[in-house]
Amino acid sequence: MSAPEPAAIRTRGLRRVYGDTVAVHGLDLTVAEGEKFGFLGPNGAGKSTTISMLSTLLRPSAGRAEVAGADVAHRPDEVRRRIGVVFQEPTADRELTGWQNLYFHARLHGMSQREVRSQARSLLDMMGLADRSDAPVGTYSGGMQRRLEVARALMHRPRVLFLDEPTTGLDPQSRAQVWQKLHELGRQDAVTVFLTTHYLEEAENCDRIAVMDHGRLVAQGTPQALKSAIGADVVHLRTGDDENTVRSIRERFGLDAETTPDGVRVRTADGARWVPRLCAHLTTGVTSVAVTRPSLDDVFLHHTGRSLRNP
Ligand code: ADP
Repeated sequence: MSAPEPAAIRTRGLRRVYGDTVAVHGLDLTVAEGEKFGFLGPNGAGKSTTISMLSTLLRPSAGRAEVAGADVAHRPDEVRRRIGVVFQEPTADRELTGWQNLYFHARLHGMSQREVRSQARSLLDMMGLADRSDAPVGTYSGGMQRRLEVARALMHRPRVLFLDEPTTGLDPQSRAQVWQKLHELGRQDAVTVFLTTHYLEEAENCDRIAVMDHGRLVAQGTPQALKSAIGADVVHLRTGDDENTVRSIRERFGLDAETTPDGVRVRTADGARWVPRLCAHLTTGVTSVAVTRPSLDDVFLHHTGRSLRNP
């Protein structure tokens, strides 16, 4: 599926090699302005390497990338002025207050005192940190620190915001809060958000996602389109003998069945219609049955042969 114009990020044949390891194999990607774009894949897929190249921290070994209208290799300073980055590891200064972290970042970007004041006030407000802005960041919870880092990355009004694993290490409530702020950002400003994640739930929140595995793009599209493209429902069965169940389902019905750590998984169109037939014919003691529409994990499994949840 091609992204609508104009593009905030466009890569062609983007590649990065570390010694003998090809971390990213010739990536072709287009992200539209204002999109929330998720880069989904397991550890080692090449997500951080890609985000590092797009944010000018790492030089591509080959290929091209244009971010916010400038080429990362030829005009890195221009790209840096137009992007904000939130790294995987916390980088806010814990000794300084929230306000001071924003202030020094913005002054380094050449913003005037006056601009800094109004922008910091509105971002601290938006991120729900106004009442703690004078406290040292060392006293913030993990979720508050992450929200402060998002605010800091937005101080100089970037056109593209990069977030590397934005909610890793946060508790579910803090993750939800960070996401709520990212959604608000999308509604209020035309900031393009590009994030990497290995959380399926997080990828569901994106307008479009690219699925990455072993440095290659294996699928891209809206979460809905990717799930629909697989087409099949999944029938989950718990039985007394999974191996035999899979064999009989394959032999008798010719269906695509496999064992998983959670029981037997059968992939078929119109799963609900199959349930009575399967239960009537299986002699291996079916103890529970559930039918689900395809998930993003099924998308990943379909394209890579592996599950993101149970790699
Ligand atoms: P992800 O962010 O998806 O976990 P990375 O981009 O960190 O993936 O890594 C992709 C591949 O590149 C992995 O095989 C990893 O071991 C390798 N790699 C990453 N950084 C380096 C490095 N500095 N030196 C050598 N190999 C690296």
